[in-house]
Amino acid sequence: MRMSQLLAPTLRETPGEAEIPSHQLLLRAGMMRKTAAGMYTYLPLGWRVLRKIMEIIREEMDAKGGQELLMSIVQPAELWRETGRWDEYGEEMFRLKDRNGREFCLGPTHEELITALVRADVRSYRQLPLLLYQIANKYRDEIRPRFGVIRGREFIMKDLYSFDRDEAGLDQSYWKMYDAYTRIFRRVGLTTRAVEADSGAIGGDVTHEFMVLAEAGEAAVVYCTSCDYAANTEKAESVAPAPAGPGSAVPPFEPVATPNVRTLDELTRFLGVAPDRVVKTLIYEADGQPVAAVVRGDHELNEVKLKRVLGATTLTMAGAAVVERVTGAPVGFAGPVGLKGVRIIADPWALAVEDAVAGGNAVDTHLRHVQPGRDWQADVVADIRTVTAGEPCPRCGGTLASARGIEVGQIFKLGTKYSQALGATYLDEQGQARPIVMGCYGIGVSRTMAAIIEQHHDDHGIIWPVSVAPYHVIIVPVMYEDKQQREAAEQLYEELSAAGVEVVLDDRDERAGVKFKDADLLGFPLRITIGPKALKEGQVELKSRDGRMEERVPLDATVQRVVAWIEDNTPQA
Ligand code: ATP
Ligand code: MG
Repeated sequence: MRMSQLLAPTLRETPGEAEIPSHQLLLRAGMMRKTAAGMYTYLPLGWRVLRKIMEIIREEMDAKGGQELLMSIVQPAELWRETGRWDEYGEEMFRLKDRNGREFCLGPTHEELITALVRADVRSYRQLPLLLYQIANKYRDEIRPRFGVIRGREFIMKDLYSFDRDEAGLDQSYWKMYDAYTRIFRRVGLTTRAVEADSGAIGGDVTHEFMVLAEAGEAAVVYCTSCDYAANTEKAESVAPAPAGPGSAVPPFEPVATPNVRTLDELTRFLGVAPDRVVKTLIYEADGQPVAAVVRGDHELNEVKLKRVLGATTLTMAGAAVVERVTGAPVGFAGPVGLKGVRIIADPWALAVEDAVAGGNAVDTHLRHVQPGRDWQADVVADIRTVTAGEPCPRCGGTLASARGIEVGQIFKLGTKYSQALGATYLDEQGQARPIVMGCYGIGVSRTMAAIIEQHHDDHGIIWPVSVAPYHVIIVPVMYEDKQQREAAEQLYEELSAAGVEVVLDDRDERAGVKFKDADLLGFPLRITIGPKALKEGQVELKSRDGRMEERVPLDATVQRVVAWIEDNTPQA
């Protein structure tokens, strides 16, 4: 490709709307343009990157026995009504009507459609397992589209669905996909963490999110610095302590007057105790029923965990009236001792605090010398707090760290949720109808492109990994009008192209500085500079965009060197 012909309209200034590097650089490098909030047109270079990512995904999906198909984006409402998701999905769904008033949506995901397909066309156990996937646009009317293609309203997703006879089959499909995802993300040059995540409403099911650790990430992740344990903060566990002993040396609990002391800060200052000597009681309403959640003073209660423990559909903090009814005191004085008529859910760390301070369930009153087990009991003991950096890893005892992550993929054991709702069954060996056991597996393709830039850029621009670079090499003659330079450049351009190298020739009548700047911004992995000095000695300069290689090579050895460098520097699974 000749630079003079390439549609890559670069921008000198960073567009004001772009907050993070990938968004800024995709716009500045002329790889995409916005059509509407959260919707983009991909220009030739951006589209080449996406095609490479998609090709790697295809290879890995096919290698696991995946079969590619393409489903319609416009989906009939009736199917979504069968699973109840037409109403559940809410405002994120783009809805439309045809000329006859029939309702449709633009697919935000395709479980309904693919399950209906399999329901109609798969009959026998002999046809299973089945791994079906597509790569296509998805539509979600996100409240806050942002960060360019990281959170778009129209975006490219690879979605695969697995259909198995039973749980054991699903387990195999699941770990196949886990392996494929690990390979895909390595091959596109990403460092990811497979993170255990909360599966939301369908509790108990297994799911992993593949996270790119990056500042711009919207999710909080906890990971071990020694082993590969990693989890969403909503899910992360640490090592639970043993409960406190009988407390024979602890004096009987007694009330202390704490006038107007409501917050933990005020309490610790007033009584001169450390926050980890306090047990904190929070009153919630779970599906309308009040419950008391008890955590150690310095710990943060995790509502996602609490909700899961309770198996609740809704969980909200109780209002002042409910708190008063349950504890007999205004907000700020709840405690587990003598608390009646509500279930007490306690975190193990709260039950390990000896000689604690707790709320007294009376106005302006706290209790001291509270001994768990002796003075109060929990109805349920469960991990309901948020793990923080520095705690020991639940797997290996190493140290946990926390980071922000961009979710580039998610794999999910669905079980029979959709096959049951839609009646997708197969006949087993005995001729018995059984629901098909399903899994779903998504990769955000356009988000992946942005995540790659988040991990591979510098102040000058993008540094594409070889595997996804729009072109491998750019040839920059310092002065294209110079006959000698032009001829050397043209010859190399032809030889490299013939050797299968994807190459751009900067044949523009521009100053060398401008051409170098553009080459850096666009991020081609390798630059070949043809300048008068080296050329006099029959040489050219090779420089890798990541700065790790810089050498002079004889003109006639350049193709060989370039081909070898590309091979050596392509990320492997
Ligand atoms: P998120 O939590 O980021 O909203 P999600 O969990 O709703 O994502 P999934 O339904 O699991 O997303 O979709 C599979 C993949 O599609 C995600 O892992 C992500 O990479 C990508 N994706 C989801 N929503 C968007 C979006 N609005 N823009 C770009 N990519 C997206
Ligand atoms: Mg997800």
